[in-house]
Amino acid sequence: MNASTVTVIGLGPMGRAMVNVYLAKGHTVTVWNRTASRADDLVARGAVLAATPAEAVAASDLIVLSLTDYAAMYAILDGVGDALAGRVVVNLSSDSPAASREAGRWLADRGAELLTGGVMVPENMVGTEASFVFYSGPRAIMDAHHDTLDVIGRPHYKGEDLGLAQLWYQALLDVFLTGLSSFAHAAALLASGGVKAEELVPYARENLDLVKLLLAGSATAIDTGDHTDHGANVTMMSATTDHIVAASRDAGIELELPKAVQSHYRRAIEAGHGRDSWTSLYEVIRRG
Ligand code: NDP
Repeated sequence: MNASTVTVIGLGPMGRAMVNVYLAKGHTVTVWNRTASRADDLVARGAVLAATPAEAVAASDLIVLSLTDYAAMYAILDGVGDALAGRVVVNLSSDSPAASREAGRWLADRGAELLTGGVMVPENMVGTEASFVFYSGPRAIMDAHHDTLDVIGRPHYKGEDLGLAQLWYQALLDVFLTGLSSFAHAAALLASGGVKAEELVPYARENLDLVKLLLAGSATAIDTGDHTDHGANVTMMSATTDHIVAASRDAGIELELPKAVQSHYRRAIEAGHGRDSWTSLYEVIRRG
């Protein structure tokens, strides 16, 4: 057994992309999937289909999981018995930090080590220069398997706490998914005036460029707690959120997203931040 041997369990779009890049780079790849037929084309390209999860685990020191969530890991690995002892499991499935930590304890009870990870690119970018993956778990395990995992995407190791990779993954998706929803919402608002989404694109891009410019200064304010206003205070912006909600109501579209933002501003004013910068929203948000 050597570093070029890897098992991939879970052959959704993401797991399949991983198998393909490993095969393209000459690795020996064993695969297993609940729906075995999803392995057919991968086997034709050189992957070895294990008959059972236990056989898949026994085939390699390094077991990569690409599943819907951590519950799927238990469904698959619960019956493999002693095969897990001495193995390294790399779970690249999405879930909560708590689920990651719990999985570490479950695997340790069976003699296996866990690295947790979150792939930060869509499946069609796996294995490209742009691909990167957040990891957390034992540093020595990360170092030992760095080169094999680098095939999927650049590892960004975030620390020993098994929950950290998912914390980073969910934080980035928080930014990403909220951004996508806000674009869909803005498109629906404009559609009520007969405007096509494609007309929004160049303006939305400029808007996002502005957000990018604001990030560094905003982070400093959040980290230091200095929310001194530099020209766009909470009271002014709160009025704008009222106008977005009103415009959305007039347009007959969904109100949840603008109401959530409106609520941030209203609560910041209630907490005494009316004359502060918008970054003071952080103080309201973090308290839950
Ligand atoms: P899919 O949901 O398409 O695939 C999930 C895999 O999990 C399938 O192999 C499925 O098996 C298996 N599975 C789910 N539940 C069970 C269960 N109870 N028992 C056994 N097997 C189970 O997801 P993706 O491949 O798209 O993604 C995998 C992970 O990667 C997810 O956590 C996702 O959030 C993450 N991710 C995905 C990206 C993407 O672009 N697709 C981008 C970044 C991260 P079966 O085939 O039998 O249904």
